[in-house]
Amino acid sequence: MFLFKMLGTAAGGGVPQWNCACRLCELSRTNPRAVPPRLQLQAIASGDGQSWYLLNASPDLRVQIEANPELQPGSRFGRRNTPIAGIVLTTADLDQVLGVLLLREFQPLTIYATRLVRKTLESNSFFRMLHRVPDQLTWVEIVPGQSFFLGDSGITCTPIPLEGSLPFYAREMNTGEKGQASLGLVLEKEGRRIAYTPALPEITDELREIYRTCDTVLVDGTFWSDAELSRTHSGTPLARSIGHVPLSGDDGTIALLKDIDFPRRVFVHINNTNPILDTGSAEYKAVLAAGWQIAHDGWQLDS
Ligand SMILES: [Zn+2]
Repeated sequence: MFLFKMLGTAAGGGVPQWNCACRLCELSRTNPRAVPPRLQLQAIASGDGQSWYLLNASPDLRVQIEANPELQPGSRFGRRNTPIAGIVLTTADLDQVLGVLLLREFQPLTIYATRLVRKTLESNSFFRMLHRVPDQLTWVEIVPGQSFFLGDSGITCTPIPLEGSLPFYAREMNTGEKGQASLGLVLEKEGRRIAYTPALPEITDELREIYRTCDTVLVDGTFWSDAELSRTHSGTPLARSIGHVPLSGDDGTIALLKDIDFPRRVFVHINNTNPILDTGSAEYKAVLAAGWQIAHDGWQLDS
């Protein structure tokens, strides 16, 4: 058995975003059929349907657990328990790690992370809440490029080193070592291979070769165009300068992956400025016409 599910598909801030009255956020509030609301990015995987692994930990995790029974505790196991067996961290970005703090109720947890991501979190005093009792937290070191098993799930996880640095709050801790601050993942079991790459600063030949070996690829769908963020909110950076290849254009993700023949290609991590959120837009139709899916909250591997 190999289960994979998206519990949230938006970029940081979600859709709609709390302080945003752009056309898409407004539409999401007034006409959720046109722009379905989305929680912040969260993926989960399981090898048996009993124990689950979180891929990063979203700020919306509490809501996501209550909306998905497979992540809820069962009274037959006693009063305090969880089916969450571990968390794989691919970055130290707040949108991907804040959920770890929500799981701090003395519950033993296993976290898979690179040396640098661990050091970054441990240097932050908030995360000491995860070390209040012995054995509360077990760290397992991820080495970029080296495969490991997710516990006893039978799922092999291979970290793909990506360019990228630590987020602003920890920028002085950067080492420049590729993959320590930013990873993609390939998950594999029983001949199925999924690439999970929600943040892509570039699309390299190496990455394209990895995608060719997969039957499903989940890809950074943050922005449609490079200048989209600055058009909606003046003074904000270009997509590429903050580590996201946009979808459109001759040098965009859709064009760069056009010739790769895999059965299922899916966009995740969609920012609230991205016009593909609007199911009536030309951009939404163009993405589907190019053979891509846009994951919705609740998307599953076989859906
Ligand atoms: Zn907005």
